[in-house]
Amino acid sequence: MAQQSDLFKKLISHCKEYGFIFQSSEVYDGLSAVYDYGPYGIELKNNIKQYWWRSMVQMHENIVGLDAAIFMHPKTWKASGHVDAFNDPLVDNKDSKKRYRADVLIEDYMDKIEKKINKEIEKAGKRFGESFDEAKFRETNPRVLANQEKFDTVKNRLAKAMSDGDMAELKTMIEELEIACPESGSRNWTEVRQFNLMFSTQLGNIAGAEGKLYLRPETAQGIFVNFLNVQRSTRQKIPFGIAQIGKAFRNEIVARQFIFRMREFEQMEMQFFVQPGSEMTWYNYWKKARLAWHTSLGTAAEKLRFHDHDNLAHYANAAVDIQFEFPFGFKELEGIHSRTDFDLSSHQELSGKKLQYFDPELGENYVPYVVETSIGCDRMFLALMSLALREETVPDAKGKDSSRVVLKLPPAIAPVKCAVLPLLKNKEALTSKARAIFDRLKLSFNCQYDEKDAIGRRYRRQDAIGTPYCVTIDFDTLEDDTVTIRERDSLKQERISIDQVEAIVRERTNMSTLLQNITDQINIPESVGS
Ligand code: ATP
Repeated sequence: MAQQSDLFKKLISHCKEYGFIFQSSEVYDGLSAVYDYGPYGIELKNNIKQYWWRSMVQMHENIVGLDAAIFMHPKTWKASGHVDAFNDPLVDNKDSKKRYRADVLIEDYMDKIEKKINKEIEKAGKRFGESFDEAKFRETNPRVLANQEKFDTVKNRLAKAMSDGDMAELKTMIEELEIACPESGSRNWTEVRQFNLMFSTQLGNIAGAEGKLYLRPETAQGIFVNFLNVQRSTRQKIPFGIAQIGKAFRNEIVARQFIFRMREFEQMEMQFFVQPGSEMTWYNYWKKARLAWHTSLGTAAEKLRFHDHDNLAHYANAAVDIQFEFPFGFKELEGIHSRTDFDLSSHQELSGKKLQYFDPELGENYVPYVVETSIGCDRMFLALMSLALREETVPDAKGKDSSRVVLKLPPAIAPVKCAVLPLLKNKEALTSKARAIFDRLKLSFNCQYDEKDAIGRRYRRQDAIGTPYCVTIDFDTLEDDTVTIRERDSLKQERISIDQVEAIVRERTNMSTLLQNITDQINIPESVGS
């Protein structure tokens, strides 16, 4: 774990040093839990979004796109339940004046118990060596059993208090478990109260409560209120989906872990409209399809897991998270929710406008059911970066060991696809040849031309931003129009003719290969809408 938190610190400083992510308004000491994406960050983020969009909209004949506005009529959030129920339990420490989420304080307490159990198991594993039977040890060791019982009791109490919205019980738990403020060690807590996570602002031309607007806390509602507009204008038949990428805003109480939990973030959401009764078939399809999307990017299966929700939200009849093993443990990366007809029915009721579909097969009108996939683009960014960042010992030009920091991003997602490097800066014949190659390649890919510093240092710079290919122009190039192409991960160098460069880089950095990998894993239904 110490190594993991070390990796996380390195990742954050790497993101800053190499222009991926900066703290917002850093000159004013930053704005908490708000971040800006730098030159390489925005390229990587755009590629993630493009890969998601293509896998949804381009690969499914019955999914279409939408870009709804961030501001929506305030009644939207009444209908969706966000005005009344989008709350987190907030508690203040009176001495340190720090604010916490009551449920997170209790979860941190549970983490500590879990760590104790794991430590006990680790110790026993070392003691017994190969003959160690972990399952049996868990069932019989008194200390493990006692801690497990404690853990389960707290977990069940917390789940019940959260689903009942019982703030007094949360306060009692904090007191009984003797949870102290992590900052000051004090146990002087306020009452626990509900805190609404929506940011609000005011419409310019209407005074008072009437003009109160919210910054959307999820992109999904823009899709629901446009359901009939999209269906009619594209003549889609059920089942069909609407995909959208956009900003969402949440006034998170505990905002930590870098871009994992931000107050302004980006979601990639798809709402799939289905016949009532068929939702579980589609829920299972989307579980499989979304997992395949993650593994198609090279993410090892053991880094991902499904986690069924213990408490279902008011709108859902099934819900699962895809969790990823971040440097700080397994946490939610994406949610897949069967939302029933809750949203469309609520909008129908509050607006007085029919949001129904006439099903020609059944010959009847109904409010469709919805299966949603919702992934945070920023969390996906963090997941990919944490998988990619490595420190390695590799041979230098003279065959001696040297260390390098490398971002082993999937080539199709990497910010820069190819760097063009003349061996020497002040040899005009080399630089003009290199420029000509760069000018050709830049029509097809995001490339970089770099002539500063020794070639080894330039390779290291490209490794650190994850560039999969470097093309070097040397004196042989002037003789025979060949260059070396160096591969980031294997460090293999091949001599190829200039004419081959574009085709090779294209083939090896192609997003189509990743998309093909998805279709190898799942059967994308053919024009499901017909
Ligand atoms: P969490 O339990 O971590 O608060 P959530 O269950 O509230 O997340 P959803 O409402 O299901 O999240 O949102 C869908 C996705 O949006 C999440 O899986 C996550 O990737 C992303 N997301 C949600 N809140 C944030 C945030 N504050 N910062 C960054 N990404 C977020």
